[in-house]
Amino acid sequence: MVPTPSVNADVPSLLALTAGRLHGRTNIGADMATRIPDPHLAHINPVRVRTPQGCEECLSLGTPWVHLRLCLTCGHVGCCDSSPMRHARAHATELHPIVLSMEPGENWRWCYPHEAFV
Ligand SMILES: [Zn+2]
Ligand SMILES: [Zn+2]
Ligand SMILES: [Zn+2]
Repeated sequence: MVPTPSVNADVPSLLALTAGRLHGRTNIGADMATRIPDPHLAHINPVRVRTPQGCEECLSLGTPWVHLRLCLTCGHVGCCDSSPMRHARAHATELHPIVLSMEPGENWRWCYPHEAFV
């Protein structure tokens, strides 16, 4: 009876939004330049949070963290850049590019290679 957060609920809506922009013959160049979705979004999967209690590496190392980021490719939980160990960045650099904030009330996604919200 473990509650499963619906972290991936808003993924299809982004694709639907961009698909709706393909009509219209004027200003296509400028429109395309600003509306291309981040290619790393293809790495997003329906994930299960592996360590809902905290950063996976910090839990085993006994180190503290500040904020938590969820890998949207594999469900790894890592600590943010304000944390001493920055495991979310390390995970993104070595493995998977996009994380979701796990802070209460926040639901933004961040692409580490692009340093941008996606
Ligand atoms: Zn990206
Ligand atoms: Zn950590
Ligand atoms: Zn991952």
